[in-house]
Amino acid sequence: MKTYQLYIDGKFVEAADGQTFTSINPFSQDVVATVSRAGVIDAQRAAAAARKAFDAGPWPRLTPAERSEYLKKVVDKINERQADLVALEVADSGSTIRKAKEDIHLSARNLNYFCKMAAMTFEGDIEGLSKPGFSKNVLAWEPVGVVGAIIPWNFPLKMAIWKLGPALAAGNTVVLKPSELTPVTAMELAKMFDEAGFPPGVVNIIPGFGPEAGEELVRNPLVDKVAFTGSTAVGRRVMAAASETLKKVTLECGGKSANIVLDDADMELAVDGALYAIFYHQGQCCEAGTRLLLPASKADVFLERLLAKTRKIKLGDPADQTTDMGPLVSQKQQERVLGYIAEGTRQGATLVHGGGKPKDPSLSKGFFVEPTVFSGVINSMTIAREEIFGPVLSVMTYDTDDEAVAIANDSIYGLGGGVWSKDPERALHVARRLRAGTVWINEWHLISERAPFGGYKQSGVGREFGVEGIKEFMESKHLHIDEVGVREKKFWYDTVVPRS
Ligand code: NAD
Repeated sequence: MKTYQLYIDGKFVEAADGQTFTSINPFSQDVVATVSRAGVIDAQRAAAAARKAFDAGPWPRLTPAERSEYLKKVVDKINERQADLVALEVADSGSTIRKAKEDIHLSARNLNYFCKMAAMTFEGDIEGLSKPGFSKNVLAWEPVGVVGAIIPWNFPLKMAIWKLGPALAAGNTVVLKPSELTPVTAMELAKMFDEAGFPPGVVNIIPGFGPEAGEELVRNPLVDKVAFTGSTAVGRRVMAAASETLKKVTLECGGKSANIVLDDADMELAVDGALYAIFYHQGQCCEAGTRLLLPASKADVFLERLLAKTRKIKLGDPADQTTDMGPLVSQKQQERVLGYIAEGTRQGATLVHGGGKPKDPSLSKGFFVEPTVFSGVINSMTIAREEIFGPVLSVMTYDTDDEAVAIANDSIYGLGGGVWSKDPERALHVARRLRAGTVWINEWHLISERAPFGGYKQSGVGREFGVEGIKEFMESKHLHIDEVGVREKKFWYDTVVPRS
């Protein structure tokens, strides 16, 4: 079993009140780690350290190339420790080993992208603002200051990198609060930042609970910006609390993404794609394809093929290479998902596969839920409206492309979406009409660090990744540089200023 302390101002320290919590392996229920539990005072200490490091420390004043060099050291450390980090991620989060390998690899790749971004300059002239010879106008981009970053449990290391990478590349200092369910790889990351010699206070990592350390970060006046990823319900609270100090906020929240199969789709491809869209990581993905929209003319045969493959999905030990689906992250999450399944049946949807805990006694300690498929779903049902965040697919039918688009857009969410068709033009026409931040055509789950990612509607505010993403961690500044120089030629010469 591992033990971790808080990382504040370049030191590993106990929580001010000495409290700890344990992180549990969701497959075996063994304790993976005992972790110091950051409270309000610890969040205040971390915010103060980050403030000092921003206002008086070297980090914001380093050259972009120097910042990039520091970040590169962490990329190398993640790459060196891949196998170890994969094992920890599997134990702490219940991620299958196949997914965890991809996550750790992508964490290093994503951070490497931010190293390159750190060395880019976004500054440029603002053209056409005044006549030549009157003034020069520059648009400068500066770090926003101290960033409070709050992340969920579904991709623990990757989510930490998605916040730390752009925030640090832009010259900010950061306090990161990982999820209380999966603190382990974030604390390993703290060690890597420490070993890489980052100046004290630039990176602070405080594992703790949302209403304690998380809420304090959102309210603390020393924090300039909150970058939050998590549920829409908590996102609303974060936005409200941040309004007290008018903090900048970016929110990456929940989804209920519609997966539209058009009647000319390659059926084999679309069946596999639909399974991947919903059951990857046990359905615990914000942009999972949770609502499957099938053309009524093809729905029966599509569903039959989908069910034939769903029956073959292997639940098991997430550390086993042959396991397709592991446990959910916690007992609470398992109960929540089972509650939604019960509600689906109660409201009249037809349960055509799964719906409960697996019977296999070797899985009895894990927080498993079988891959579950409901047909005959109507978009007004709870299982079509609310984010379940588990392996539950709601299948609906439609008659026309227009109807499919209308159903897809009838949601408070707008994070992802997908269209399957052999006709690229037809698919693109449908994709453009979906009110969502990312729409895949004949694909799913591909999120690139070069493309902005985020939500329409209540799926979020702002974007991660791409140039749009890094600018969320910057303030824009207009620099007006006078080129007239002579008092009499000023346009305000005849206004309020007395001539003598
Ligand atoms: P959650 O909202 O319960 O918690 C997210 C984080 O917020 C955790 O660190 C938690 O401790 C913290 N938190 C909780 N209450 C808080 C408060 N009052 N003030 C400040 N912080 C608080 O979400 P979760 O269950 O950890 O993660 C699942 C959710 O995350 C899903 O809704 C999923 O869609 C979303 N998610 C979104 C994206 C995206 O990019 N849009 C990515 C991953 C996950």
